[in-house]
Amino acid sequence: MFDNSIKAYEEAKEVIPGGVDSPVRAFKSVGGTPPFIERGEGAYLFDIDGNKYVDFVQSWGPLIFGHADKDVEEAVINTAKKGLSFGAPSPLETELAKEIVDMFDNIDKVRFVSSGTEATMSAIRLARGVTGKNDILKFEGCYHGHSDSLLVQAGSGLATFGTPSSPGVPADLTKHTLLCEYNNIENLKKCFEDSDDISCIIIEPIAGNMGLVPASPEFIKACRELCDANGALLIFDEVMTGFRASLKGASGILEEQADIITFGKVIGAGMPVGAFAASKDIMNHLSPDGAVYQAGTLSGNPVAMSAGLVNLRKLKANPEVYEELNAKAVKLVNGFKEVASKNNIALQVNTRGSMFGFFFCEESPTNFKEVGKCDFDRFAKFHHEMIKKGFYFACSQYEAGFMSTAISNEDIEACIEAANEVMKNL
Ligand SMILES: *Cc1c(COP(=O)(O)O)cnc(C)c1O
Repeated sequence: MFDNSIKAYEEAKEVIPGGVDSPVRAFKSVGGTPPFIERGEGAYLFDIDGNKYVDFVQSWGPLIFGHADKDVEEAVINTAKKGLSFGAPSPLETELAKEIVDMFDNIDKVRFVSSGTEATMSAIRLARGVTGKNDILKFEGCYHGHSDSLLVQAGSGLATFGTPSSPGVPADLTKHTLLCEYNNIENLKKCFEDSDDISCIIIEPIAGNMGLVPASPEFIKACRELCDANGALLIFDEVMTGFRASLKGASGILEEQADIITFGKVIGAGMPVGAFAASKDIMNHLSPDGAVYQAGTLSGNPVAMSAGLVNLRKLKANPEVYEELNAKAVKLVNGFKEVASKNNIALQVNTRGSMFGFFFCEESPTNFKEVGKCDFDRFAKFHHEMIKKGFYFACSQYEAGFMSTAISNEDIEACIEAANEVMKNL
């Protein structure tokens, strides 16, 4: 069933480290060979062995209208015919910026980059530049891309300063990164007691990189208050949740608002786009208006802008899709929960708009440590068997799931039925 993919994987490994250009794609945490994809169409992925999958990954979030959406495709083709990149300003950038700025009261200006990693990295530089402070505070289990100062793990004992989580990152570059437990207000307060040099808190307000684990409203409130009391900026990393958790992302759900928001994924509809945005007081610090340097040869790429414009305009014109997507996400995870309990398996589920998560554990996790206590072997087996039945889920319990409008209720019902079969033998 996977013969061609197995061959392709071996071939890829000869010339690409691990055979992949982003490690999660290698299926290391669930085992087996990743299917090599030939094409996507609506709800489905087709691999090079001719297998068809209902895709609940959606390129890790961007494809909210499914694969090869006709409107996005048309915009991309028409724009590409006029040239792929100019290295000079084009009106499409302003158009997309306006669509974003119009949606948020706390945002006046936006700068486009080419990935989520770049967006968060630049947002942090901006926060440091604006506040004149050096430390940043992040939370265990939140992912903000792979830039040096964000690749930290808990250090020994009670130290709040993180240690590098990857070789190649000097401790000198992470000594300004404080690490704190998600949803733990006491821990958060302690960080602010330990350092009077905190420039910003960066947080996934609805974490999607340790499964789906939302922050409590009280926790977000504490983040906001501690930032205000200490002259720090609050950054919502909405690279995943932006235009996913709701039309306005987590910002649209939560009471508290951020000073800087980062975007990615849906904003590019599958093209490489990221962005960071804030009030003009903050954004005016950026080069060329201000002194904080940031740049990109392909930033604001016209083809990418045209794809993002279609995604955002379609979402804004049809805000009811979020109810439809959430209803589908709820239908799926509730179905899973039901068949799990029929089979005496503990399963915890979460949804936020078009995002969903499920954990094989007794209690709903609220932070990274608790997610770590879930049954990873069971998840790996489940994942493997579901792939064989034609249902493509993120290959780690640390990842969220994504609904697209292209996925039908029939697809979901078939998926629940398959899950029932699989859970009988878990
Ligand atoms: C995916 C993601 C990033 C990194 O984006 P890339 O485009 O992969 O660099 C940053 N933050 C969050 C919350 C993400 O989900």
